[in-house]
Amino acid sequence: MGSEHYRVLIIGGGTGGIATASLLRRAGVERIAVVEPSKDHFYQPLWTLVGAGVVRPQATRRPESNYIPRGVRWVRDTVAELSPETRRVQLLSGAKLSYDFLVLAPGVRPELDAITGLREALATPHVSTNYSYELAPKTWELIRNFRGGVALFHMPSTPIKCPGAPQKIMYLAADYWRRHRLLAASQVIYGSGTAAIYGIKPYAMVLEQVLARYGIDARFKHELVEIRPEQREAVFERANGDGCERVSITYDMLHVVAPQRPPRFVTDGPLADERGWVSVDQYTLSHPRFAEVFALGDAAGTPNSKTGASAAKQARVVAANLVSRLNGEEPSARYDGYVACPIVTGYGRMVLCEFDYSGNATPTLPWLDTFRERYDMWLLKRYGLPLIYWNFLLRGRAIPFVARETVPSVSHTRLHLAPARP
Ligand code: FAD
Repeated sequence: MGSEHYRVLIIGGGTGGIATASLLRRAGVERIAVVEPSKDHFYQPLWTLVGAGVVRPQATRRPESNYIPRGVRWVRDTVAELSPETRRVQLLSGAKLSYDFLVLAPGVRPELDAITGLREALATPHVSTNYSYELAPKTWELIRNFRGGVALFHMPSTPIKCPGAPQKIMYLAADYWRRHRLLAASQVIYGSGTAAIYGIKPYAMVLEQVLARYGIDARFKHELVEIRPEQREAVFERANGDGCERVSITYDMLHVVAPQRPPRFVTDGPLADERGWVSVDQYTLSHPRFAEVFALGDAAGTPNSKTGASAAKQARVVAANLVSRLNGEEPSARYDGYVACPIVTGYGRMVLCEFDYSGNATPTLPWLDTFRERYDMWLLKRYGLPLIYWNFLLRGRAIPFVARETVPSVSHTRLHLAPARP
């Protein structure tokens, strides 16, 4: 079987993949293809509000075809294998593609077998997760029908997309029960593998007050290892001196988050780092060995939190650096590690956490005190960010305040294409 050749092949048509494709098209790059199996595109950040009964799930889903930029080929297939030496990609259908430049944006998949009993537990009426389009509405059913008892919210210690999401839904649930006079009859427990409520001190201090306001029992360095759905029991491991001990919590409802990893063609392939993420220079986002390969979004091995806001910033860096390479220049755009994590702390309240690789807070709107819980930030999350996502980010347009950097145009007279290695 022959293989179709593309100047730029983008793997994954989610946040990072579509944003990059749009920016490259606007820069004048031709012969781009996006490999994406899903017929739908999801705005995942709203799944938190689906789980809280604020947004209908359908509002987070739109046809993928509406967001493939004009002039870009959509290959509706799944990548099975990569060969960066020959610049070839093997698809699940058996077809093969080849490329001059490769952009990896395949996101992460839940590792449902990493926690014993997790798969079975999710099928019971007491356990849900917002990390799935299908299950987020079930979270809302659990919160709505809860009549008191133990509500357990879990957070793994390993990297996950939007590491704030496991606590956001907990605050929303606690607020709902407070308004319905059920909070006093409830024990809300946060069982987290992490060492603190948040890794960035000024935001952690705000969130500690939120925990206290709802009377949440936060248990850190607790790694969920098993769920016994029959007994409604969650088993955690926690360090105890030199060893570790097991602690069981019996729940009436459980919100759980599976550990996450990139797809197998990445973790088991030649482009992965030792932890299974795509190996990249954290600033240029290009692969250290294969200069024509770039990665962004949740699958990229950058040492920071995985959020859609980061992918939005990274898309501009990848597009600019890829165009530089096409023009025969060295990549000069740099990703500074920007992360934005809108932590919803109740109905009508939100803290906007923003920081970079240095761990310093980098508020986009310095004239607003975004360190405190605000109603206008809630409106941003509920209405503003989805609007920006569908109309600016995915279309490759400048995003007011957040992503204004322009991508240089490709110079068709100077196209620089290094030959594939034999
Ligand atoms: P995705 O957008 O997930 O896209 C990956 C794409 O790759 C998918 O379409 C998939 O089908 C495709 N793919 C997978 N495997 C293959 C393959 N083998 N071949 C071809 N294609 C493949 N971010 C924020 O900034 N703010 C928030 O408030 C926020 N809240 C969140 C709340 C929840 C509950 C969740 C689940 C996520 C949240 N996020 C938030 C995170 C945000 O959605 C992700 O960080 C962002 O979507 C990452 O973009 P990506 O392109 O890397 O991956």
